[in-house]
Amino acid sequence: MPIVQLGSEGRWRNYHGTGTCEAATRFALRAGDAPRGRDELAAAARAVQVWLADAAAAGRRVRPLGAGWSPSNINIASESWLLHTRRFNRCFRIAADDVRPGLDAAALMLVEAGALVDEVSDKLEAQGRSLWTSGAGNGQTFAGAAATGTHGSMIAHGGIQDHIRALQIVTPAGIFWIEPAAGVMSDAFIAATGSVPLRDDELFAAAQLPVGALGIVTALVVDSVPRFLIRPIQNLRTVDRAALAWLAVGDFRRFSAAYALDRDPDFVQMIVNPYKPFKRPAMLRFLYREPWRDDYPRATPGQLGAGYDALSLLGRLLNDYPWARGALLQYAMKLGYASGPDVDDPPVYGSWGEGLDTHRPLADLFNASVTIDRADLARAFELICAVYARHGGSTVVTLRFMRRAGGLLAPARFAHNAVIDFDGPRSRRTAEAYARVVDRLDAEGVAFTRHWGKSCNLDAARVAADYGEDFRRWCRARDRLLPDPAHRTLFRSAVLDGLGLTCP
Ligand SMILES: Cc1cc2nc3c(=O)[nH]c(=O)nc-3n(C[C@H](O)[C@H](O)[C@H](O)COP(=O)(O)OP(=O)(O)OC[C@H]3O[C@@H](n4cnc5c(N)ncnc54)[C@H](O)[C@@H]3O)c2cc1C
Repeated sequence: MPIVQLGSEGRWRNYHGTGTCEAATRFALRAGDAPRGRDELAAAARAVQVWLADAAAAGRRVRPLGAGWSPSNINIASESWLLHTRRFNRCFRIAADDVRPGLDAAALMLVEAGALVDEVSDKLEAQGRSLWTSGAGNGQTFAGAAATGTHGSMIAHGGIQDHIRALQIVTPAGIFWIEPAAGVMSDAFIAATGSVPLRDDELFAAAQLPVGALGIVTALVVDSVPRFLIRPIQNLRTVDRAALAWLAVGDFRRFSAAYALDRDPDFVQMIVNPYKPFKRPAMLRFLYREPWRDDYPRATPGQLGAGYDALSLLGRLLNDYPWARGALLQYAMKLGYASGPDVDDPPVYGSWGEGLDTHRPLADLFNASVTIDRADLARAFELICAVYARHGGSTVVTLRFMRRAGGLLAPARFAHNAVIDFDGPRSRRTAEAYARVVDRLDAEGVAFTRHWGKSCNLDAARVAADYGEDFRRWCRARDRLLPDPAHRTLFRSAVLDGLGLTCP
């Protein structure tokens, strides 16, 4: 039985405790034990379609859930049926005759939508393959992470959704297999999954980043690269103002040479205290890719610098003693940050997956971001720090870098992006300071987008303006997938309506 009901109608709180669904009936989609993935998908997709019909008959809207991590409450829908996908998490190899001629089946993996990024990473690495990027944590489901355009700071790559080559999506109208027009999987394979093939570049570009509004994603075909090692350098350094200009033009080598190794880094991340950012040490993390070798000395996640989430520990203190926030924030940063391995320490190595962490729940988290054209970095950074210094708010400011990402609604829409995150304890003051930050960027004419999964104060007018023609293309694709307004209504929620993604 792929779908089971979990208890009776009640309350559900998301993982980090930022939102609550009232009067929610919870269901779980569970993996079976079919030897072939395509058979498992056919059974699960049929069950999901029946479940959608039952929800409609019961007069309830539906909300698919991944790990429930998103603090933007994009996973929250009251008076609804919730579908937990977390236990629908098997991964399958793909054989050469399952794909179109000329494609490398060994690079691809069939992934059930609820598999965690961590699980996908482990399965790939066991086969000598690897993801090429992901978020800083790996406890999201693959479908959930892709739905919001999750990313890390791999300079030459986009978002996690760029790994998706094809996907199965279920709507009340059908079970569809969406892939680019050039095709990926064989007709026989798609037929065996019980899906109707939709080989269409527009639909694929929309479905790569669906924000939970296009149907229930049940499976993904995930691409990979040969596995590689990363060498991390993690240190506390006082960064010179001039170094921001190097980052803005993409001279990461110069930045790395100044603060870590004189090598081209593959990943650069800088976490700063916005109060005196050039006087107080910033937390820097660099990753350098190296060829895989089986005999690398194994390191612990702590030695690899995986995870940094102790900031919320001092939340109450920062809120109660705003006059001391600069010093307290610096103290919190030090507490939460594993300094080292530094340049002079013995090198440590790990795979991509070993360098990530699944996170514990972060109660009272504030978490927002803006993505800008990297060329605007120096000016935007100074504006942002000035706002926090003047108006308070207890967040650290994190800089990450990435290429343009796939998906019509990918926030990383510039050729080269700087993503500026604001993470800290949840408080009214912090939320107000963030609101002032985005007002200031607007006033100064800095173009930016926001993360779908974070608490970014977005509204429908702003979404339409930020994404322009790409937003209209996404809406047209949605209306092709869900042509019946009653079907679109099924996926509505207050949050998605507010973003203009589900309004008829
Ligand atoms: C501690 C923490 C660290 C984070 N780190 C990063 C980071 O480094 N980089 C970054 O970019 N983001 C980061 N995020 C944001 C996070 O990656 C996103 O919020 C991500 O979407 C969460 O995935 P999830 O599986 O929990 O999805 P959920 O929060 O459960 O769902 C997200 C959306 O996807 C939809 N959805 C989920 N599964 C399906 C499905 N099977 N079919 C259709 N729709 C579906 C939901 O309905 C919802 O709209 C972080 C968040 C937290 C709380």
